[in-house]
Amino acid sequence: MPFSYNNSAMIPLKPGHSVSKGWTSVTGNKPMGVTWHWTAIESLATTRKVLGGPSATSKGIASAHYGIGRTFAEGVDRYVTLENRSWHAGKNQVMRWDGKKSLKTESGARACIGVETCNLGYERPGVPAKADWIEAVNTDSKWLMKVQPWTDEQFEMMVAVGKEILARWPHIEVRHHHGHHDICPGYKQDVAGFSFAALLRRIYDDDTIPDVWSDLWTILARQKILVFLGYDLGPWGADGHWGEFSQRALDDFQKQCKAVRVPHWTTFTCWDVHDALATRGTTIAAVTAG
Ligand SMILES: [Zn+2]
Repeated sequence: MPFSYNNSAMIPLKPGHSVSKGWTSVTGNKPMGVTWHWTAIESLATTRKVLGGPSATSKGIASAHYGIGRTFAEGVDRYVTLENRSWHAGKNQVMRWDGKKSLKTESGARACIGVETCNLGYERPGVPAKADWIEAVNTDSKWLMKVQPWTDEQFEMMVAVGKEILARWPHIEVRHHHGHHDICPGYKQDVAGFSFAALLRRIYDDDTIPDVWSDLWTILARQKILVFLGYDLGPWGADGHWGEFSQRALDDFQKQCKAVRVPHWTTFTCWDVHDALATRGTTIAAVTAG
């Protein structure tokens, strides 16, 4: 391996720290999904001060199982073992790992492994975007974010971490990987623009995993899907502006799929769209092209 794991910043399994012993009986004493995060911090050393060890800045508030640096030289930190829970998703957890409504007892942090990736997140005052930043619309379908890309070395470390998780908990399904913004839609923005398809294909050694994400990073693409599925977007149709008609169409789609009705477009919506198009013999790429 061209990088190493650092176990020196493990969080003590003691009261007052952001770690809980074991997984809960609600999920059969095992984790059910993986929540991918960005740190909004560029360096792993700084991330470690915030999340890791006995005197983390966020002690008793937040943690994660892993912190993944941007370079092989930084490597990967382990903060919590895969046998215990980390406190990686805080407020407003409305969805659980499979897109169903989250009960308090089975919310993200209780049921999912949390992986932090060092990434500045989106362009904002004081954090200017560079030319290579990724454009991806948020779960409201209104805000086109510019997101710092993850590095190639970091991607390889994400693959390794994903494989380590899968080796320990092989029941975790492809569709149960999601971003923090999927379980807390409207509240969190991480990880917009994340390369889920490429990553999951490598973790699961399966090139047939569909990319249900990247073709839906624009407002127009989401609208084209809704129009194709027969929803009425009003006199303007698919025009790249997400208004009342688009919002209502999304709600109707969620209702029709028996999905949780939240006013957000999440990874779970992407999978529902994939399934709805598959029954019509087509794909997200085909419908959104052109
Ligand atoms: Zn997060």
